[in-house]
Amino acid sequence: MLESIARQALFAGGWQAITKTFPVINPYDNAVVLEVADCGATEAKAALEAAVTAFSSFRHTTGFERSAIMQKWAALIRQNAETLARTMSMEMGKPVFESRGEANYSATAVEWYAAEAERIAGDIVPSRFAQKRAFSRLEPVGVVYAITPWNFPAAMIARKVAPALAAGCAVILKPAEQSPLTALLLAKLWVEAGGPADTFQVLPAADPIPVSSVLMGDARVRKITFTGSTEVGKLLYGQAASTLKRLSLELGGHAPFIVFEDADIAAAALTVSNSKFRNAGQQCVASNRVYAHESLQGAFEDAFAAQARGFKLGNPLEDDTTIGPLVDKATLDKVQAHVNDAVARGARIVSGGHATGGLFFEPTVLSNVHADSLMLTEETFGPVAPVVGFSSEADAVKWANNTEYGLAAYIWTKDIGRAFRVAEALEYGIVGVNDGVPSAMAPQAPFGGMKNSGVGREGGRWGLEAFLELKYISITLP
Ligand code: NAD
Repeated sequence: MLESIARQALFAGGWQAITKTFPVINPYDNAVVLEVADCGATEAKAALEAAVTAFSSFRHTTGFERSAIMQKWAALIRQNAETLARTMSMEMGKPVFESRGEANYSATAVEWYAAEAERIAGDIVPSRFAQKRAFSRLEPVGVVYAITPWNFPAAMIARKVAPALAAGCAVILKPAEQSPLTALLLAKLWVEAGGPADTFQVLPAADPIPVSSVLMGDARVRKITFTGSTEVGKLLYGQAASTLKRLSLELGGHAPFIVFEDADIAAAALTVSNSKFRNAGQQCVASNRVYAHESLQGAFEDAFAAQARGFKLGNPLEDDTTIGPLVDKATLDKVQAHVNDAVARGARIVSGGHATGGLFFEPTVLSNVHADSLMLTEETFGPVAPVVGFSSEADAVKWANNTEYGLAAYIWTKDIGRAFRVAEALEYGIVGVNDGVPSAMAPQAPFGGMKNSGVGREGGRWGLEAFLELKYISITLP
């Protein structure tokens, strides 16, 4: 299946062979997985013309028709889950057991939005005038430009493209340069499911800027949906202004995990560990800072470190691997720099702490981390967790909120009053209470952040509304 997408992009009527290519490199062994089409401005212009044409008819299909195609698409994703999973693991290094979960999540998200496509409806609006009848209707926003990151090569696409297609939009996707293969496979399955030509086009590119400049500069692209760094998100926010594109931004995070004095230490350590080390810590919602009450800090650190030591580093394609390589050298260097900085400021390594060759870094727990340390102020995006002690709930909440980010936060407590009080005080779009993975298998839930973590929400009805325009129609009866 993979060979069939080599050197190809999907746009302007179907699969197009592109002479210019770039290699997708496996971060585990540095081997070339596949040569991929390298699209630029020419391909973006052709894709845009095709999307405009495709949208002009796709917008008139019923939600029931779109739902039927999406259900077939979801079934094909399930049938090809193993291929998708192995592809993800090869292109960005995620352990295959996690990739399988991601393929399953992606099918679930498509199924959920397939059902929602049948429920897109407006409202009857009351009139003050006896001879008038008024209502609202929901219409697809138009041609959508989607940009996705490498860390969840399938899920980030499903969460954007499924609601966009459910709404009746035509989508042009530019996947991350590290992980274009999963994107191409998902689009191939959309075509196999009977998805109309050019409703979902994929333009892989080694350099995002030529494709992006064409699409961001054209007023016919009515919506940009982006997941990635805050830096690039802000750039796109500015570029969207001149044509006033609708915009959804899912950006960086710096999640705190607060372990209160009444926590079940073993359960909290396991939960933090899953939240922190999944995908080798390369997640926007990963716990980046752990605040543990002073009364249990030592015992909690020991339990957390024991969990960290239980991970198996190895080839992402092997079933029992639980930590794969980091995606690239720059990510490894940032992780090492954060550890070096914390240690230089007096931190103690409780477990791990070292690069182990290639792009691997041990799951690491640090104690005595100084408040000014880089890992307490920046997103680390790696398998490193600083633990900081606190003595009062007020301090824990203040420190947790003391960041430019506001994506996900976690707390562990058995006190129901505290659970509500703290969850409501945290300035975050997602709060897990005794739950390290609140968004797992939940495409029906809102996902997104406050402050510098983004604009808008994906998931649930909110993720669909992001691709719909609201029209008001008032009729005076003859
Ligand atoms: P990135 O911003 O560098 O890249 C993301 C995407 O943007 C890629 O497809 C890339 O090609 C593209 N891109 C880069 N520069 C661009 C430009 N000038 N114009 C147009 N497109 C451009 O981010 P990354 O390092 O690949 O991903 C990691 C970041 O993504 C982290 O900050 C992480 O927290 C964030 N993230 C957020 C969520 C969320 O839902 N909030 C989910 C996953 C990842």
